[in-house]
Amino acid sequence: MEPVIGIDLGTTNSVVATVQAGTPVVIPNRSGYRLTPSVVAIAKNGKRLVGALARRQSVTNAERTVVSIKRLMGRKWSSRTTQEALTRLSYEVVPHDKERDDFLVKLGPESFSAPEISAMILAELRLDAEAYLGQPVSKAVITVPAYFNDMQRTATKDAGRIAGLEVVRIINEPTSASLAYGFNRQVGEKQICVFDLGGGTFDFTILHMYKGVFEVEATGGDTVLGGDDFDARIVDWLAEPFKAKQGIDLRKDKMSLQRLRDAAEKAKCELSSVKQVEVNLPFIAQSPTAGPLHLQAVLTRSDLESVTKDLVDRCLQVCEQVMGEAKVKPNAFGEVLLVGGQTRMPRIQEAVKSLFGRDPSKSVNPDEAVALGAAIQGAMLLHQEQEMLLLDVTPHSLGIAIAGGFFQSIIPKNTTVPTSAHHVFTTVKDDQTSAKITVLQGESEIAAQNELLGEFMMTGLRKAKRGEVDIDVIFDISADGIVSVSAIDVQTGLRQSITVTASSGLTEEEIAVAAKANEEWMLGQKEPPEWPARKEKAEQLFKQFEELWPRLENAAANGLGMEPLQRAKAAISVAKLQVANKESEGLAASVDRLERMLGALKGALERGLTSPRGGGQ
Ligand code: AMP
Repeated sequence: MEPVIGIDLGTTNSVVATVQAGTPVVIPNRSGYRLTPSVVAIAKNGKRLVGALARRQSVTNAERTVVSIKRLMGRKWSSRTTQEALTRLSYEVVPHDKERDDFLVKLGPESFSAPEISAMILAELRLDAEAYLGQPVSKAVITVPAYFNDMQRTATKDAGRIAGLEVVRIINEPTSASLAYGFNRQVGEKQICVFDLGGGTFDFTILHMYKGVFEVEATGGDTVLGGDDFDARIVDWLAEPFKAKQGIDLRKDKMSLQRLRDAAEKAKCELSSVKQVEVNLPFIAQSPTAGPLHLQAVLTRSDLESVTKDLVDRCLQVCEQVMGEAKVKPNAFGEVLLVGGQTRMPRIQEAVKSLFGRDPSKSVNPDEAVALGAAIQGAMLLHQEQEMLLLDVTPHSLGIAIAGGFFQSIIPKNTTVPTSAHHVFTTVKDDQTSAKITVLQGESEIAAQNELLGEFMMTGLRKAKRGEVDIDVIFDISADGIVSVSAIDVQTGLRQSITVTASSGLTEEEIAVAAKANEEWMLGQKEPPEWPARKEKAEQLFKQFEELWPRLENAAANGLGMEPLQRAKAAISVAKLQVANKESEGLAASVDRLERMLGALKGALERGLTSPRGGGQ
């Protein structure tokens, strides 16, 4: 059966899972860890690094290390989120195409779009899954925050395609966590909620579970509220007094900022289990007069709680709003699930408990539930495993811009997906041959305040008097939450062609070029099938030489001479280097050579032993 993997592509960490023999399991990465940091770097030698390797070198290579790319997925260059993010990034982001209003991440001489960076993480997870399963993997379910809009979902799907994955479904993280919770558990009929605070995003979702059906009733969130913001508050808490005292803003230096950020996150996580931590950053800056400067501070849990109070309040406000929309009281839930690493903060758990009047459930692992749920969904879709049905909703209203700069909603938020809606447009001029529809997502009555998904041009309209051509425009939202638009001439029944003229997404051609580059990179990472046997053979030869070496030295001193030993030594060094660098073809030649040398040397020893002059043994 073809494997399918579930991927939680997180802001801070990513997790990959699959279902094996009916059981969802997390796939450890090739270093043996269950979480892979969502960090990508291009090392000084041009090599691509992903995960822990990239994270480990982030301080010394801050300008070429990308963290939290998820925050930039599907965003426009001019958007407030992008511009705000720029002030806190240690890597360079530059505007790209003016018309598309998009941007690229610059890593040394190369530039990448946000989906390309995400694809590097996905490709790494794919390699981990292939190594674990021992077979190629090309199908995946990828999760996204429930509150992601169409562009963010499309960007995620594009990232999957670039990584060579067929994304069989994009599902919402909280829904995915609820699948993991409900899997193989007799939960009965229940209304539950999922409080999902990860590294970069917050989602609150209300679900109704009954007889294997997981029906989302309402969802809401904030795509720029997560653990990163908690870290940023600690960074400011550390940097402000330092600036006041020393006159140096550590946040302006990329390397110091990265060190501060790492220390802040570490302190924050430790404060989930202890009451105070010491932050020690020696040689963090250089004063022109006083020489090297060090930063030392003691951060208490209550300090952390006071500098992040408004962030916790923002989460609670989202919960209140979603409950208001769904007309549900806080004490109505049969279970409250906590998902996302940031929910480990005790203050969050207390706030959740006091809002909902019950202890949150301990039955799902906040780091792994999302990936496990995605793997379950994958198995359901591809292998028809488990009788479960997922009914999700669209988190934003979908509509069009109308006269006067207003927004007309066509599909209201919290509508179950997949869904579609129609709208009939009429020509306003005689012989009008084209028309433009501006499609937006959001809740504001003012069109410009909502997110522009694209401008769709209908061309080649039938020539007729104004008002005589009616075009039925169909807006579809797929189960992935992705929007598509099509149009039909009502009078003739003919399908109208539609082209998207304003979208920040990648073109098909760009995706194909990036996918090809990725495939080539992946090939370079993969061990050829003959590699394990070749390496084993080489290692056996090294051992045989090692065992034989004292006798060979003896023989060398007794007539064989040093030259064959020196040649063997050099050949062994070359082969060891080839093993370390995984040079399969080169190693094959070395193995042949070493075998021949070993045979000849063994022959010489035999002759020496049987010869009347003796071999020294
Ligand atoms: P996720 O996106 O679910 O991997 O969540 C990652 C976020 O959770 C990051 O901001 C982490 O710093 C945060 N996090 C992980 N462990 C803890 C912890 N023990 N206490 C507080 N925050 C944590």
